[in-house]
Amino acid sequence: MAIEAQVLLLTPLHGHTDRERGSIMFSTVPGLTECAPADPSDDSPLFLSTLTATPREKRVALAVLLLSLLVFALLAPFAGVPMTAVWGFIPCYESWLVATDLITAALLFSQYLSFNSRALFVLGCAYLYVACMTVAHALTFPGLFTPTGLLGAGPQSTAWLYMFWHGVFPLFVVAYARLKRRDCVPSTLPRRPRLPLVAAGAAMVALSAGFTALATVGQDLLPVIMDGDRYRPSMQLVVASVWASSLLALGVLWFSRPHSVLDLWLMIMMCASLIDIALSAMLNGGRFDLGFYAGRVYGLLAASFVLLVLLAESGILYRKLVQLTETLKRLTTQDALTGIGNRRAFDGSLDLELRRAMRSGQPLSLLMIDVDHFKDFNDHFGHVEGDRCLQMVARTLNVAVVRAADMVARYGGEEFVALLPGTDAAAAALVAERLREAVEALCIVHRGTLETSRVTISIGVACLHPVWSAVRAGQAAGYPVGIELVGRADRALYAAKEAGRNRVVVAAEPEPG
Ligand code: GH3
Ligand code: MG
Ligand code: MG
Repeated sequence: MAIEAQVLLLTPLHGHTDRERGSIMFSTVPGLTECAPADPSDDSPLFLSTLTATPREKRVALAVLLLSLLVFALLAPFAGVPMTAVWGFIPCYESWLVATDLITAALLFSQYLSFNSRALFVLGCAYLYVACMTVAHALTFPGLFTPTGLLGAGPQSTAWLYMFWHGVFPLFVVAYARLKRRDCVPSTLPRRPRLPLVAAGAAMVALSAGFTALATVGQDLLPVIMDGDRYRPSMQLVVASVWASSLLALGVLWFSRPHSVLDLWLMIMMCASLIDIALSAMLNGGRFDLGFYAGRVYGLLAASFVLLVLLAESGILYRKLVQLTETLKRLTTQDALTGIGNRRAFDGSLDLELRRAMRSGQPLSLLMIDVDHFKDFNDHFGHVEGDRCLQMVARTLNVAVVRAADMVARYGGEEFVALLPGTDAAAAALVAERLREAVEALCIVHRGTLETSRVTISIGVACLHPVWSAVRAGQAAGYPVGIELVGRADRALYAAKEAGRNRVVVAAEPEPG
């Protein structure tokens, strides 16, 4: 009854009914394609700089922005309230910034190396520049290392360094936004892609050294903006231009659509930076008041936003990489037509099982399986039905070998192999007979031959005997033994064909020695 239900009504090429077609539809092998694999042809962008922000990401960014603005609105009226000078705050804040900026720069440079984005290269330079300026700012901060600050700093140095730091960074962001569009055109990396990185590192150090020199030894050339720890009125003009620079960057980013995820967080970062400048240099009165501290906390947040997003992206990239590696591994060992193991998978298993058998002294059997008169089948029904027939046979063989260690693979064309570890010749002959019966029981109509009306298989069985393998155990590589085993199974298969097909022939075991 069960067999009847599986009878396949294969008919010549022309003249299929839908029902008949439905009865032979088969596309997967159980257990082999159940997981949802990563698609290696999936070319969706992997990088934040190319990934367009989703509505959900935009909502999250908007929520962060609104929260930042709300806190700013609450703090702004009290920005000038004096507070205790916490000297430990400055080195903590500056160290955090330097670490964050350097890691962000490294991640951006690695993305530049990954797909040659000049925009990301410039943004990496921006973070490197900020890291250098932060170091200079910390070293010159009056009272932190020495009463007047290191590097020959004077009373104006730190404030001017803050201005150069916050005023120049947005210009890099503007350059990023402009270059971003040109990154759409694929270009190849320079022949020595690390050279621009070394040059950029040197240039950023030189640029920040230049500004540091101007703010320290050349401070007399600059307008006086500090009066001790308090701001002079002239400060407002300088801060306004720094603020305008950030506003310009924000505007350019806003108009360079479509916005990538990175653009989104750069805009949030520029907003936090605007709040930082407003609280710590515009609305407050000098160092160590509420605005001074709150502004710097905003500065820390601004620096961390992009880093956090880049780190989250790295996590996603790692996950995708693992999925793709697994998919590729599977694709290289899976037969595309039938879904069972391919020749490569078989070669790997044979090598492994041979070594195991020679170590343990357990027998190893190999079944070489060939579909009978398959050329006639193709000629009569066409290659499409031929393929379906091979899929049916593969599935049947795969289901009929029951032990977990057994493996069935497509050796090539209409030939299959089954590898049965821990199975001697007698037991392998029984398994082979079961496979033969299972394929015959499929009742796939075969009108191309006079010998049989159904598709059948012939099987050659060869066994690697423990005694024989122990004698050969001196051989280092298992593969010559494997070739011999395959050769014996092949000859047994040939004998099965000669004897009339649709049968199992067991190869005689060689004499030990
Ligand atoms: P025998 O009983 O002696 O094995 O005869 P045979 O016709 O099966 O053997 P032969 O080697 O002459 O023909 C094998 C045929 O298998 C020829 C080839 O067209 C067919 N074949 C090999 N690979 C595929 C495949 O992937 N799909 C289809 N449809 N046919 C295939
Ligand atoms: Mg063949
Ligand atoms: Mg054949």
